[in-house]
Amino acid sequence: MARTVVVTGSTSGIGLGIAEGFAKAGDNLVINGFGSEEAINQAVESVGSLGEGSVIYHPADMTKPDEIADLIATADQTFGGLDVLVNNAGVQHVSAIEDFPPEKWDQIIAINLTSSFHTIHNAVPLMKKAGHGRIINLVSAHGLVASPFKSAYVAAKHGMMGLTKTVALELARHNITVNAICPGYVLTPLVQKQIPDTAKARGLTEEQVKTDVLLAAQPTKQFVTVEQIAAAALYLASDAASQVTGTHISIDGGWTAQ
Ligand code: NAD
Repeated sequence: MARTVVVTGSTSGIGLGIAEGFAKAGDNLVINGFGSEEAINQAVESVGSLGEGSVIYHPADMTKPDEIADLIATADQTFGGLDVLVNNAGVQHVSAIEDFPPEKWDQIIAINLTSSFHTIHNAVPLMKKAGHGRIINLVSAHGLVASPFKSAYVAAKHGMMGLTKTVALELARHNITVNAICPGYVLTPLVQKQIPDTAKARGLTEEQVKTDVLLAAQPTKQFVTVEQIAAAALYLASDAASQVTGTHISIDGGWTAQ
């Protein structure tokens, strides 16, 4: 039977790849995120063409709790419940701590951490009522280890690991699992955008940032792909993963083994 899946921040990058993965499995999708009307329509159409399920778009801004509540309520009203919640929306800002704009700190904590409190807070009553649920948090290797110049991002992602474990314990007897996926570097728009700033902060060329900074952390020297992350999300949503909860899957080319 088709599941209902909400993926925050799924108009681009990893979120879009995860939405495509669930669509191919025949699930109903709620797509969310920013972008031009044309880009959003294209994402809805292309995800919708991949499987038998239905696809809708909801424009909730992950900094706005009432819009997040409406996102979850819309999934329920449209499809009669919510089986899988993927907290994926995220932004980045790269800067030394003393130059870090306070409003950027607030924005990153809101989108990369607090929005997941609100999605989970609204989704859990629906999942408890249904007697099952899967919550998948797109965290990062930066949820486990730090890198300089990313104070807000690393703090938010470490917070997401704490949220994942706490909520997993609370829901352990309700057939609802809560897990994190911790990717290394994936060449999405989020990473492309930080290359010029990292180059500036470290006094390097953009090519040096790719090879010496980004992939320096990844022993395999290869970027992770969106499809590999989607496959992990599908696994965490499957029956085979019913006893996997409160933990993370690292897909980081060996980064956090060091
Ligand atoms: P991306 O920039 O390609 O996509 C981010 C998505 O979030 C977009 O759909 C964007 O519209 C949406 N978004 C941004 N602000 C929003 C807001 N206020 N409300 C609603 N949607 C909003 O980024 P990505 O690389 O695909 O990252 C997705 C997730 O994966 C993030 O949480 C990121 O931290 C995490 N991650 C990425 C990498 C990587 O290397 N790309 C590595 C580890 C973890």
